[in-house]
Amino acid sequence: MIIETCPKCGHDLVNLMLTSNPPIPKKECWSCGWSWTGEREEIVRVPFGGNSFVPDTTNYLNVDGNDTITMTSTGNYLNNCK
Ligand SMILES: [Zn+2]
Repeated sequence: MIIETCPKCGHDLVNLMLTSNPPIPKKECWSCGWSWTGEREEIVRVPFGGNSFVPDTTNYLNVDGNDTITMTSTGNYLNNCK
């Protein structure tokens, strides 16, 4: 497992997804506020291959950035209103 860290302060980065269509990836440091916003990404669907890969937690943000939905690897949703 790889955890990316903040280039500014070294804190763990949080992966976010802006819920536009197609979605826009974003990485944010909740320690110092550094963030990076990527390009719109195409959605690619792949058939399950029988492996044990579990994606890490992905946070989905409304485009206005007010509301965060966190989806854990078990498929549970946590709603973290700011
Ligand atoms: Zn930082």
